[in-house]
Amino acid sequence: MSGRVVVFTGPSGVGKGTLLRAVLADHPGIYLSISATTRNPRAGEVEGQHYYFMDAAGFQDLVKRNELLEWAEFAGNCYGTLRQPIQEQVNQGKLVILEIELEGARQVRKTLPEAYQIFVLPPSIEELENRIRARGQDEESAIQKRLAKASIEIGAANEFDLQITNDDLDTAVEQLKEALFGQSQTTETPLANAAP
Ligand code: 5GP
Repeated sequence: MSGRVVVFTGPSGVGKGTLLRAVLADHPGIYLSISATTRNPRAGEVEGQHYYFMDAAGFQDLVKRNELLEWAEFAGNCYGTLRQPIQEQVNQGKLVILEIELEGARQVRKTLPEAYQIFVLPPSIEELENRIRARGQDEESAIQKRLAKASIEIGAANEFDLQITNDDLDTAVEQLKEALFGQSQTTETPLANAAP
């Protein structure tokens, strides 16, 4: 049996992680992809759990060896999805979620067109800024880069199969569950057919 891949995108600070944690709490069988990144760990982030943290040379090695399904630069750092674990989990019939930014989502759209693509919108740009600042994890320069990116990303929301506005958390979680497990989304997506 083959599993399927869902791409989950939205501006930094929109609450993608919160939404995914809420769904995973009820559906522990979902495999949430762990990306490689050159970003420094934030307080509380654990190697191999939140990300595989590495330097630029290590990341370039992954790119050269074609071990990434997609990768992109975001706010001064590189982020990429390791191909092999995704392939393994899909082969095991798992639902795999890639929480990635816009450029990566566009790459996956080309290499894995069957993957269902979801975009999470904030209620407004002002609310997004409030959330990023309330998170208190980023320096001012990083916040500015993330907000500039956010406007571009939000402008591309219509490229995605589904848009979910994360205003009321419970409503957004229900919409995400419906997208992942509702009648219309039961079609399988074999990764092997579409891998580059
Ligand atoms: P953060 O630094 O806030 O953890 O992530 C910054 C952005 O990079 C977020 O929008 C996140 O979804 C995205 N991101 C995380 N992992 C990947 C990845 O493997 N590939 C791509 N393209 N984006 C990623």
